[in-house]
Amino acid sequence: MVNAIYPGSFDPVTYGHLDIIRRAAGVVDKLVIGVLNNSSKNPLFSVEERIELLEKVTADIPNASVQYFEGLTVDFARECDAKVMIRGLRAVTDFESEMQIAQTNHSIAPDIETLFFATSLPYSFLSSTIAKEIAFYGSDLSGLVPPEVEEAFQEKFKKSSGE
Ligand code: ADP
Repeated sequence: MVNAIYPGSFDPVTYGHLDIIRRAAGVVDKLVIGVLNNSSKNPLFSVEERIELLEKVTADIPNASVQYFEGLTVDFARECDAKVMIRGLRAVTDFESEMQIAQTNHSIAPDIETLFFATSLPYSFLSSTIAKEIAFYGSDLSGLVPPEVEEAFQEKFKKSSGE
C-alpha cells in the first residue's frame, strides 16, 4: 500500500491542482489532500470553503480524500500513515522554494519522500493567485478552474462588492 499526501493552501483549487491530484491518485493507493491554513498568507476562501470545493471537484476520484491540517507537513504525513508527499512543479521559479521545502522535510523526516509531478503544459502558468486576479476583474475563468470554483468566486465577489 502506498499512501500519499498532497499538501497545499488550495485557495482555491485550480485545474493545475486537479491535474496533479488525478495523476497522483493514479499511481498511489490512497491520496489525502491536506489543506493548510497558512498563517503567513491572507486567504480569500476560508479553510471550510476550500475543503468543500476540493471535495466537490474530486468526488469522482475514489481513492482521494480531503483533510484540514496544521503544523508540520511531515507530522500530517505520519498521521495519514503516508510515506510520500506530492508536490507540483510549474516552472523554474517553483524549483528553488520547492527544493528548499523538500530538503528541509527530508532532514527532519528521512523516512518520508517528496515526489514531484511536472505540471501539464496548459497549466504551467496557472496559480490560485492568477485565478483570483482574473476572477476579481470578472474575466473568463473557464479552462483555469472547475465550474464549482467559478461559482464560488462569483458569490465571493458579489458579497464583497455589496451587491
Ligand atoms: P502552497 O501554498 O503550499 O504553495 P498551493 O495551493 O499554491 O499551496 O500549491 C500546492 C501545490 O500544488 C504546490 O506543490 C504547487 O507547486 C502545486 N501547484 C499549484 N499550481 C499548480 C499548477 N498549475 N501545476 C502544477 N502544480 C501546481
